[in-house]
Amino acid sequence: MSLLIVGTVAFDALETPFGKTDKILGGAATYIGLSASYFTKKSNLVSVVGGDFPQENIDLLNKHNINTKGLQIKADGKTFFWSGKYHTDMNTRDSLVTELNVLADFDPIVPDEYQDCEFLMLGNLVPTVQMKVLNQLKTRPKLVVMDTMNFWMDVDMENLLKTIAKVDVLTINDSEARQLSGEYSLQKAAKKILAMGPNYLIIKKGEHGALLFNKDQVFFAPALPLEEVFDPTGAGDTFAGGFIGYLAETRDLSFENMKRAVIYGSAMASFCVEKFGTERLIGLSREDVETRIQQFVDLVQVDISLVY
Ligand code: AMP
Repeated sequence: MSLLIVGTVAFDALETPFGKTDKILGGAATYIGLSASYFTKKSNLVSVVGGDFPQENIDLLNKHNINTKGLQIKADGKTFFWSGKYHTDMNTRDSLVTELNVLADFDPIVPDEYQDCEFLMLGNLVPTVQMKVLNQLKTRPKLVVMDTMNFWMDVDMENLLKTIAKVDVLTINDSEARQLSGEYSLQKAAKKILAMGPNYLIIKKGEHGALLFNKDQVFFAPALPLEEVFDPTGAGDTFAGGFIGYLAETRDLSFENMKRAVIYGSAMASFCVEKFGTERLIGLSREDVETRIQQFVDLVQVDISLVY
């Protein structure tokens, strides 16, 4: 088994109703990799950073079994920078700054030792870069999961659609599903998006959970009601990391197992939002994860018999 992760490795500056951070470690691939590390023994990263990216961040990724051989370091460039501000309900946010920096002309190179990849996570990134990585693999992975966001719908819809057509699972949030499909009803949106190519669609609804669709079935997982939500940044990526990490470890791609993977993804996302940035995803124990999963099971389990 091997999991290949592509996505941004970034500096984020965040503002939520509970506080503000200056440039901290962020990026879609960072959250995905940290989250997946609780399931897979090893993952491989393809991304790019600038000369301003501290070695201690790379050490942190390596400590979480993330191979950084495919992380290009552009000594003269600056790391991708994103700044976001959350509204009071924490379900919506404004992107204040998106500086592509080294991402603007990033040419991904998949190292030879990554070629055994069976599970590919195309984290949020320039759609043509996502496509280039997929095209560099000599054997198509068993499962390709892709995440994206409204930014790429606004600036490069044409290439985004080409990439979406090639993947097995697409994960997006509810407003992005509406933007991509032009449909308000998520059921209708799902139908249209599945017709674009993927066999599965996951629509993330923040504190209102997540929906998993395939052509004939739909599954809903709630989000865990939490007392403390400090910062939702990276929750979607953390979800994706837990989802694909669990699938890569169990190697079962049935709809039933995807449902379990959605619960694992949701459990990991519930940790992510409890602290700023990646802080809560560092140093979780196996027991922490298992206890959280049990809370999910308890939340949704009901014995019911139909009364006529
Ligand atoms: P999420 O909250 O799951 O949507 O992910 C937030 C992460 O996505 C942050 O750490 C950002 O660095 C990263 N990010 C923000 N904008 C973009 C973008 N346009 N492309 C790729 N990654 C982004």
